[in-house]
Amino acid sequence: MSDPRQELRDLTASFRTHLETRGRSGLIGVSLRPSPAPASAAPVPATAAAIVVDSDPQRPYPTPPPVLYDEGQVLHSGRGLNALHGEIGDCQRCKLAKGRRHIVFGVGNPDANLMFVGEAPGADEDAQGEPFVGAAGQLLTKMIKAMGYERSEVYICNIIKCRPPQNRNPEPDEIAACEQFLRKQIAIVQPRVIVALGKFAAQFLCGETTPITRLRGNLRTFHEIPVMPTYHPAFLLRDESRKGEAWADLKQVMGMLKNLGLR
Ligand code: SF4
Repeated sequence: MSDPRQELRDLTASFRTHLETRGRSGLIGVSLRPSPAPASAAPVPATAAAIVVDSDPQRPYPTPPPVLYDEGQVLHSGRGLNALHGEIGDCQRCKLAKGRRHIVFGVGNPDANLMFVGEAPGADEDAQGEPFVGAAGQLLTKMIKAMGYERSEVYICNIIKCRPPQNRNPEPDEIAACEQFLRKQIAIVQPRVIVALGKFAAQFLCGETTPITRLRGNLRTFHEIPVMPTYHPAFLLRDESRKGEAWADLKQVMGMLKNLGLR
């Protein structure tokens, strides 16, 4: 016969492991959809007590002050993004801080169903403080319009928020320092579908090192949110013959949104 006290100990250990895993994934406290705040709810002060979203002790940089929470729930929509913007502040958490002009946080609808995640800001983005405003950004805007959206209806950001020098690839320590902000943006916006643009975004969100040529077009998930990996617009500008594949990927996304009753 089983020992009920041992069973209880096993259950407690299993639950603790589950909570620790959720904590490392950055999703403790995330609700599936935002609960509407009561009309009488007082605004949360900037110093409100909060839960640490990303507490992995292996990170090479100190955990920043946490995103604001309201009654244990992530603040959603514009309030959440404003709080996160404040949390990033004049970020010096990695070596990219030295050469940047602007932190390129993100732009678009804070309640977007559709989110685009790229790699890192380029020169135009660094100068203007907005993601995807250069030539690649103009192509992305055309792609978004072809899907039937305005740029202002979707949310656009990058994995890392400061420009790498000479537009080189982001380095692992830079991604490790900055990824927490993308995780929080996703937790706050709660998109129904994410399009991962290019190798770095796709490999990060899919948790794989598979080349983008094989990842693209194959649906994955990031914490249960569907992720469609596709080519980065900058790559499409260099190799126009790949545009058809990218359009096929975006058509899959449009089909998903239609099936969800969102288009
Ligand atoms: S890239 Fe990210 S972690 Fe590094 S300084 Fe900029 S905002 Fe901070």
